[in-house]
Amino acid sequence: MRATQMFVKRLDGGVLLPKVARVHAVGRRPLTPDGLPILDRVHPFESLFIATGHSMLGITLAPASGQAMAGYVLSGTRPELLEPFRLRRFAATR
Ligand SMILES: Cc1cc2nc3c(=O)[nH]c(=O)nc-3n(C[C@H](O)[C@H](O)[C@H](O)COP(=O)(O)OP(=O)(O)OC[C@H]3O[C@@H](n4cnc5c(N)ncnc54)[C@H](O)[C@@H]3O)c2cc1C
Repeated sequence: MRATQMFVKRLDGGVLLPKVARVHAVGRRPLTPDGLPILDRVHPFESLFIATGHSMLGITLAPASGQAMAGYVLSGTRPELLEPFRLRRFAATR
């Protein structure tokens, strides 16, 4: 949950989601090893982007993730905001 709270703070600056409530949840969620989503371009493919691993907050975070990724796709420039969510952060563990 701590990783998710950090993610929310980074992604929207705490404006839309100042707090993530502690909840008891059931069902399977797409979790990455560090609990943060993957929002990135898949190298070496110029036109392949990935936005997944939103764990238990994917519906809530969809507008922020979508907006950030749309800006990335349209401009070709990776927003600084997306820096913690690079796919390659898992490369060293493989
Ligand atoms: C019961 C339930 C209730 C929820 N309620 C809420 C809520 O109230 N509010 C909220 O914000 N969020 C909620 N969520 C969470 C939200 O649904 C998810 O965070 C969101 O769907 C994740 O979106 P995503 O695009 O990151 O991943 P997904 O939409 O799950 O997409 C991941 C995709 O990757 C595929 N995949 C997985 N592993 C591999 C692999 N190795 N190779 C290739 N493909 C793979 C999967 O088949 C899937 O199609 C809930 C989830 C559940 C299960």
